[in-house]
Amino acid sequence: MNLILLGAPGAGKGTQAAYLSAEFGIAHIASGDLFRKYAAQGTKLGLEAKSYMDKGQLVPNPITINMILERVADKDCAAGFLLDGFPRNIEQAEALDAALKKTGKIIDRVVYIKVSNDELLKRLSGRWICRDCQTPYHEVNNPPKTKGKCDKCSGELYQRDDDKPATIQNRLVEFNKQTEPLIEYYTKKGNLVEVNGTQTPEKVWLDIKAMVS
Ligand code: ADP
Ligand code: AMP
Repeated sequence: MNLILLGAPGAGKGTQAAYLSAEFGIAHIASGDLFRKYAAQGTKLGLEAKSYMDKGQLVPNPITINMILERVADKDCAAGFLLDGFPRNIEQAEALDAALKKTGKIIDRVVYIKVSNDELLKRLSGRWICRDCQTPYHEVNNPPKTKGKCDKCSGELYQRDDDKPATIQNRLVEFNKQTEPLIEYYTKKGNLVEVNGTQTPEKVWLDIKAMVS
């Protein structure tokens, strides 16, 4: 099964990706996580991506598309993959479609997680992430058992540089301008399902599970 998780920054894509990849045994590919990994390693790609991420802007399409298409061609994606944060505009969606067509693969479902802007702001400003396994926590909604420590792997929790109010605003504007048109794009293709993301993570997961099973 090949899936796309679509939603604004903070909608809960990473949170739901953990349930989905565990349930269906498919590879979780998060474009933002890949960029942050390469930036932390100090690679040319990572440092270039960081200059856009720090401003809350999208990383240019050629860099992003190449990175994701290479990753989707990896062996562990043969049994299925889950894209989280990609595509983020029409050009990326078209490049993905063209690449999948060549290999005879399709996207089975696009899950759009819908959440209001007010709620997104609260979620992003209280988000903490594990440096090692990228599990997201929230200081109010979903705190770790021990402050500053990941429940799953004991890794250190940190707040992302771009989870600051001014950068969050830019990221939401980018989402509205560039990514929202994908809702119509996939609706026309007939594989978009919408879930109410303003419920508990467990309830959102039950809704998604029912829609993709
Ligand atoms: P995204 O990957 O879409 O940017 P995350 O999964 O990282 O979003 O979630 C953003 C923040 O909101 C995190 O702090 C997470 O713990 C919290 N969160 C995720 N889903 C929910 C939910 N259904 N209700 C409340 N908080 C949530
Ligand atoms: P995320 O972790 O999904 O919130 O992404 C963090 C940042 O990485 C975004 O604000 C962008 O700068 C960059 N990014 C992630 N995915 C993409 C993408 N598909 N296209 C362009 N930029 C991206």
